[in-house]
Amino acid sequence: MTAEAVAAIAPAQMTLLSGRSSDLGAGLMVQRLLPQRALRMLGPWCFLDLIGPVTFGPGEGLDVAPHPHIGLQTVTWLASGALLHKDSLGYAQRIEPGQLNLMTAGAGIAHSEESPPDSRAPLFGVQFWVALPENAQCCEPAFDHLTDLPVFEQGGVKVCVIMGTLGHLMSPARCYSPLVAAELSSAAGGELSLALDPAFDYGLCVLSGTAALQGETTEPQAAVIPGQLCFLGGGRSTLGITLSAGARCILLGGQPFVRPVKIWWNFVAHKEETIRSALDDWNNGRRFLPVEAYEGEPLQAPPWPDNVRLK
Ligand code: MN
Repeated sequence: MTAEAVAAIAPAQMTLLSGRSSDLGAGLMVQRLLPQRALRMLGPWCFLDLIGPVTFGPGEGLDVAPHPHIGLQTVTWLASGALLHKDSLGYAQRIEPGQLNLMTAGAGIAHSEESPPDSRAPLFGVQFWVALPENAQCCEPAFDHLTDLPVFEQGGVKVCVIMGTLGHLMSPARCYSPLVAAELSSAAGGELSLALDPAFDYGLCVLSGTAALQGETTEPQAAVIPGQLCFLGGGRSTLGITLSAGARCILLGGQPFVRPVKIWWNFVAHKEETIRSALDDWNNGRRFLPVEAYEGEPLQAPPWPDNVRLK
């Protein structure tokens, strides 16, 4: 093998990326890990938010009024607290820790997200978006709530396969391109080695504790703390992970898209025209059905930026 060929398959250096604070409304701050200038997508994952932990007083809570999505799946996963999802398909579903709330927007869906009034525990979790590949961009919208996901334990670490495939385990969640999302947690601390798919790009974010990552033995370790995303790149077949006591993190991966998708407001698409037409339909009461179960007005879209082509 030539030196060039070795370089081509050698894994990229692990890169630690920090999130930036973003306001979800009503002062609820999230850490946005993706997209960011240094990394637009991680495989098909195009948007990563860490939510909380935040404790609400009586009468307070998250209240995101109905808004539209196209071209993506929202993956909501909690470590603590609860959320109430309502959508234009007629679903009203409470989500608790360890359950996957998976909304496939496809051609178009609207939903709201609220704190249930009886929820006392701090809200702490993630919402990630998976971009749909071009051939599934306009699929039928769907909503899935999965409570029985595959789990294994190794070296004191519990691994739950939320979406896609990790090792020999496959989540039953619907997905449209090769990917993985898995939660790793450890009460007393632990260490495990995972088999990775060299065709995937991978990354890991931490909700609590620390995760020390070991790639090739010649590579320096990376220590990941809450609020960071460690981008691992592709070409890797194994990864060693050491978790501190009480650590919880999420491993993400997937086959990268040939071109990054375009994102504007809550819309994801492969072409700007697709986003413009969804915006026009939302503003004019077409395509997106009302979220009947939500009491209150839907969100208004921001104005389309003048003279700007989406990157
Ligand atoms: Mn949403």
